[in-house]
Amino acid sequence: MTRAETRPAPQEFDRVLSSMCTDPHPAARDAAMRFLADNPGDPATYPAVSDLEREAVAMLGDVVGLDDPHGYVGSGGTEANIQAVRAARNLADDDANVVAPESAHFSFQKAADVLDVELRLAELDDDHRADVDHVTDLADDDTAVVVGVAGTTEFGRVDPIPALGDVAEDAGANLHVDAAWGGFVLPFTDHDWDFADAAVDTMTIDPHKMGQAPVPAGGFLARDPETLDALSIRTPYLESDTQPTLGGTRSGAGVAGAHAALDELWRDGYRDQYETSQANADYLASELDDRGYDVVDPVLPLVATELPDREFRALRDDGWRISRTASGELRVVCMPHVTREMLDSFLADLDRSR
Ligand SMILES: *Cc1c(COP(=O)(O)O)cnc(C)c1O
Repeated sequence: MTRAETRPAPQEFDRVLSSMCTDPHPAARDAAMRFLADNPGDPATYPAVSDLEREAVAMLGDVVGLDDPHGYVGSGGTEANIQAVRAARNLADDDANVVAPESAHFSFQKAADVLDVELRLAELDDDHRADVDHVTDLADDDTAVVVGVAGTTEFGRVDPIPALGDVAEDAGANLHVDAAWGGFVLPFTDHDWDFADAAVDTMTIDPHKMGQAPVPAGGFLARDPETLDALSIRTPYLESDTQPTLGGTRSGAGVAGAHAALDELWRDGYRDQYETSQANADYLASELDDRGYDVVDPVLPLVATELPDREFRALRDDGWRISRTASGELRVVCMPHVTREMLDSFLADLDRSR
């Protein structure tokens, strides 16, 4: 065998249904390849990629309704969520706590652990959204940040962000919105979720999910420069003086890829993709409903449905990359690579497994 034949191949996307990653846009792939060795963590030495990062942050600001955004392109939603908690903790007192809904991504557990803050989890309402009354009960004078999720990982739900902003304000806390997955679809919906809709202080929005950028590209955005100041440490041996990021050396490919994807797709390309993905989610939900499954209504392009274990395992054996929520529902995330043809083929395999 030749070497090419034995080389490991990357995952094909034609049976991937539960991932929040996707095939990057070709322009983003090209841009990433060109900037593989540039380090945006050292902007004075690598000014070109640093300029791209400034432009990418400005475009992200546009996506999230913020005129003068402060932030950067990091490794992903986990880093951005850690940074949001870290900034809030640094601006608050010693016994800081974080109040987040039970639906919050597991990265908040990591943030609480790394930063030694207490994580208080609020119950959800009947529609898998943060229960504002319980968030209010949990928040107190030591609360550094209240978290709302705009597009939950398991059910694609949008928390009542403006109401959570009121709770944060009463507690003297920051409001952080985690739109890691939802940020590139929510601009085309009626949901109130962004910096223009509510008193949001910080936000997570991942170009490497619905943004169609190559991995790794996460976005951390803040309304005020003081938030980044609260994260900055001095960097004596670099050409620049301070650094607010968590990573030191960072991915030039991620930054250039995110820039190219945004440049190419914001805003019409992302709107078209949202419409296609939402139509696919609605289609899948209605096909499953017709077959008698209990389906959670897809408010964003993510379908969660009850599915017996036998069928789940048969579909896995057919090669479908699928996963379940903590409460057992199958999740299908209608990412850009998920086409109607794929869903029809999935449904055909489902019918055979019944
Ligand atoms: C995916 C996701 C994250 C984590 O992002 P990574 O890029 O995997 O670190 C955080 N929050 C939400 C809502 C997500 O969907």
